[in-house]
Amino acid sequence: MVDLWNVWYSELHQGRAGLTLKVKQVIYSGQSPFQRIDILETYEFGRMLVLYGSIMITEKDEFVYHEMISHVPLFTHPNPRRVLVIGGGDGGTVREVLKHPEVEQVTLVEIDQMVVEKCKEYFPQVACELDNPKTRILFQDGAQFMAETDEKFDVILVDASDPIGPAEVLFQKNFHQNIYNRLNEDGIMVTQSESPWYHQRTLRRMYENLRSIFPLVRIYWAYVPTYPSSIWSFTLCSKKYHPIKDFKADQYRELGISTNYYNAGIHQACFVLPNFIKKAILNRV
Ligand code: SAM
Repeated sequence: MVDLWNVWYSELHQGRAGLTLKVKQVIYSGQSPFQRIDILETYEFGRMLVLYGSIMITEKDEFVYHEMISHVPLFTHPNPRRVLVIGGGDGGTVREVLKHPEVEQVTLVEIDQMVVEKCKEYFPQVACELDNPKTRILFQDGAQFMAETDEKFDVILVDASDPIGPAEVLFQKNFHQNIYNRLNEDGIMVTQSESPWYHQRTLRRMYENLRSIFPLVRIYWAYVPTYPSSIWSFTLCSKKYHPIKDFKADQYRELGISTNYYNAGIHQACFVLPNFIKKAILNRV
């Protein structure tokens, strides 16, 4: 029998380029109080979560982003006991954070309860640690939480969606200043900082703002096939530790955690930036 199902998902980058994936099945489409949520089964990348019209995770490549936002700071900080994740409702970052036995508690501040519910239902291998007793979930705007809390953290990870809609506040300077204030005196924060190819203005503005707040700011990157341009940036901001000089390579080897992208070589290599990024963001090569 001829298969007439011919449905494709396209995500446009700046309205001029894009990624197109053939869809096997539409699993869920709905609207939360904050955003449209779509879950699609694709031929190439397996199951995929789309929020606000942007790909958040796919089954096949989610490991890259989640490992890289977590293990780079957690293998730098000598004793990351209290970790905060802002956004990250799919649970992938929490899953990676809890591979570190020193972590006593990971707090997830996610604005949209429906994202967590849908990910538990449709992405159990990503959301698998959301019911761990070490995980505390608060359904709240991350910017409001940062402005109001008096808690302190060793590591803060900003696992935000793109800076449109509810996540826009997570890219602003006063939010980053509040993060600085709520980190312990040797704390580290990492924020996802968009594509260094398509979103240079966002990355540059973030980098400049963060440099006016933190003594050490370093951009690093990873290859994520389903994100715009496939090269994705993260910005690490630290009050004390240096991500390469203080890298706990021995602990990484001893712990023997299972990863598919991150390793000791990647930890060091990811801070080496191509010249086009250096020129555009750092104003030097
Ligand atoms: N890996 C992803 C990426 O870069 O595309 C991020 C995915 S994660 C699912 C982003 C999460 O941030 C979403 O679940 C979204 O609901 C949440 N979020 C957006 N704005 C937020 C806010 N202001 N406070 C807390 N969470 C927020």
